[in-house]
Amino acid sequence: MLNRIIYAFVVFGLLLTIPSLSLNFFESKMNLISAEVIAEENREKHEVSKYEVSKQEEKLETVEMKEPELIKVYNNKTNEVMVIDFEEYLKGVVASEMPAEFNIEALKAQAVTARTYLLFRLKKYPNGQPEHSDAPICTDVHCQVWSSKDTLLNSHADGWYDAYWGKIEEAVNSTKGQILTYDGKIIEPLYHSTSGGRTENSEDVFSTAVPYLRSVESPYEGEAPKLNDSIKVSVGHFIDKIESVYGEMDITESNLDEKIELGEVSEGGKIKTLLINGNEVSGREIRSLFNLNSTNFSFIQSGNEIEILTTGYGHGVGMSQWGAEGMANEGFNYKEILKHYYTDVEIVSMK
Ligand SMILES: [Zn+2]
Repeated sequence: MLNRIIYAFVVFGLLLTIPSLSLNFFESKMNLISAEVIAEENREKHEVSKYEVSKQEEKLETVEMKEPELIKVYNNKTNEVMVIDFEEYLKGVVASEMPAEFNIEALKAQAVTARTYLLFRLKKYPNGQPEHSDAPICTDVHCQVWSSKDTLLNSHADGWYDAYWGKIEEAVNSTKGQILTYDGKIIEPLYHSTSGGRTENSEDVFSTAVPYLRSVESPYEGEAPKLNDSIKVSVGHFIDKIESVYGEMDITESNLDEKIELGEVSEGGKIKTLLINGNEVSGREIRSLFNLNSTNFSFIQSGNEIEILTTGYGHGVGMSQWGAEGMANEGFNYKEILKHYYTDVEIVSMK
């Protein structure tokens, strides 16, 4: 234990900055009706209408917008521009972005974000996105992941298609035409795998503050496989990597705990900056340098080894996919999930 130095500034800093998860945080959003009551009602509703379009669906506001029948998609694997049917594209995204085993309400939330994201891109880049100038959207994580039916069949076990394709179609078809708007305008609905307990304000990760991309709690991520993760690196490798990018930092195995200090922490509990030998280094750069799951990380040094612990997976902005799955399993429907993760948005139907 003598050699084991826990970097208290980071570990305790995170403990202090990760907000305690309130059990009743949804109540204020729901006119103080108990979340449990609503969850129970929803559970009953879902048992009745499992995988069927709810007949009591309330009328959504409509918006003057049309979806094209065909869209151009840049395929990062083949370097070709494909022309795909809009609805087929959405099914390929939902099936690639979320496990089809997820709750139907989480899949529906994903279908609405996928449709909204695509239409936002089409509007913003009608002639092509700068990084793939012949198409407004690509098949990679750069935009949102899309796979063909053949690829999906090959990457899943036998029986997957028969067991789950109907559910993917249901998620897309039952939300047909539905998109997210803020102040009457279509939004850019960013999403990520696992927030680690709280999502991020957009300006803490990207450059701009977006009113609907606010930090919110994400308490139901317990099943997420990458909620807590860690990697181990030797102290030598750790120091070499840092100095290869930032130059000589006067850091050694014996002074790391003094030379690395916590800088700024975001509202979502992620590290915005560290100070290494007094030099400011961004959490995002450290994430990319060590290929970490997220910028919510801490270091534990044991002799000549450093364990880097991470919480969450992805950039942390917008909807947490595992958080959506957790909410759905608690009985919340896709509208409640979307309105939770995207602040003050409306779910509207295109005319
Ligand atoms: Zn792209």
